[in-house]
Amino acid sequence: MSAFTPPLRDDLAGQVPYGAPQLDVPVRLNVNENPFPLPPELAAAMGQAVAAIAPELNRYPDREATELRAELAAYLGRESQVSVTGAQVWPANGSNEVMHQLFLAFGGPERTAVSFDPTYSMYPEYARDTFTRYLTFPRTADFRIDVRRAILAIDEQRPSIVLLTSPNNPTGTALPTEDLTPILDAALAHGAVLVVDEAYAEFRRSGTPSALELLDRYPNLVVTRTMSKAFGLAGARVGYAVADAALVDALRIVRLPYHLSAVTQAVAVTALRHSEVLQQQVRTLRDERDALADWLAARGFTVAPSDANFILFGRFHDRDAVWQSLLDHGVLIRQTGPQGWLRVSIGTPLENDRFRLALEQAPGTEQEAAP
Ligand SMILES: *Cc1c(COP(=O)(O)O)cnc(C)c1O
Repeated sequence: MSAFTPPLRDDLAGQVPYGAPQLDVPVRLNVNENPFPLPPELAAAMGQAVAAIAPELNRYPDREATELRAELAAYLGRESQVSVTGAQVWPANGSNEVMHQLFLAFGGPERTAVSFDPTYSMYPEYARDTFTRYLTFPRTADFRIDVRRAILAIDEQRPSIVLLTSPNNPTGTALPTEDLTPILDAALAHGAVLVVDEAYAEFRRSGTPSALELLDRYPNLVVTRTMSKAFGLAGARVGYAVADAALVDALRIVRLPYHLSAVTQAVAVTALRHSEVLQQQVRTLRDERDALADWLAARGFTVAPSDANFILFGRFHDRDAVWQSLLDHGVLIRQTGPQGWLRVSIGTPLENDRFRLALEQAPGTEQEAAP
C-alpha cells in the first residue's frame, strides 16, 4: 500500500481533537453533567417513545422538529416565565451544534467573533472551523464583564458575533441584566448578533434573571440552552437556540438536512413532558453547590460565586498536583480556568462527600495569600 497523508487543511495541521479525559473513575466531577441517573419511569417512557416510532425509521425525521420546538417553547414558559413560540426555538445535536450553526450563518471569512476570557474553550474551535476571526477580551479579576471595555471592543472591532456566557463556564459567573442591555445596544447598533450561552441557566440562584426576558426588545439576541446539564440528558445530544423567528430562519439555511434524528426528537419530547421530575434534582444540586461553596470558603479557599452546577476554586501553587492527588483517590475534576484554579462539578451528595475527603488529603492545598 502506498503511503497516504490525508490532505488536512493547512490551518488544521498539528491540531488535536477537543475533549476532557473520559476516564473510568468512581467519582466523575469533570464535565458538569447531572450526576443522577434518569428516574426509572422517565427512562421507561423514553423506551416506549422510541419503540413507538421505530417502525417509521425507514423515513427521514421531521426536518423542522415541529413537535419538539413546541415542547421546548412550552418548557421555557414554565421555567423562565417567558412566552416564545416554536418558530423562535431552534434545536440541534447539543448546543455545540447550535453554536456551530451560528458561526456558519453569521461568522465566516473577514468576520469577527468577540468573547470574554476565561470562558468556554470550544468557542475558538467554532471560529477556526468557519474561518472566523476570534478575539477575546479579559474579564475583571472577579470574572465579571467590564461593560465599558466590551462596548469599546464592539465599536472598534465591529464583530458580527458577540458571545457572552451566563452563567459563565468555567467561573460560574452570571451576567446581570444591567450589564447585558448596554452591550446588546452596542451590538445592535453595529448589526451584530449577540449570543448568550445559558447552558447552566436552570441552576441560577433565585433573583438571577435569564436573557430570555430581553428577547422581545432585541431582534439580535440569541439565547442558547441545552438538555445536557440540568436535564440530565448529555447522552441524548439536544441543545437549542431561542431568538427572533427571522434569526431562526437564517439558521435553517446552514443546518444539514434532517440534522436531528427521529430518535433524538422522541427522547427529548418525552423528557420535556416529564420536566417536573427533574426539578427536584436541580433543587438538590443547587443546595449541594451552595453547601460546597461554603465548605470550601470555610477552609480558606478562594471560591468564585457560582450560578451553575460547578465551582471554580483555588488558588493552588501546583494545581496539577492537587488534581492528580484527587484522581489517585478516585475523584476526577477539571484543570481549567486561570492558573492556580480548579473546577469541580456538583455530584450526588455522596460524591461531594468523597470529593471533600479527597481534597482534605491532597498535598499542597495550603492557601496562597490573595494577590
Ligand atoms: C456544557 C456546555 C454547553 C453544552 O453543550 P452541549 O453540546 O449542549 O452538550 C454549552 N455551552 C457551555 C458553556 C457549556 O459549558
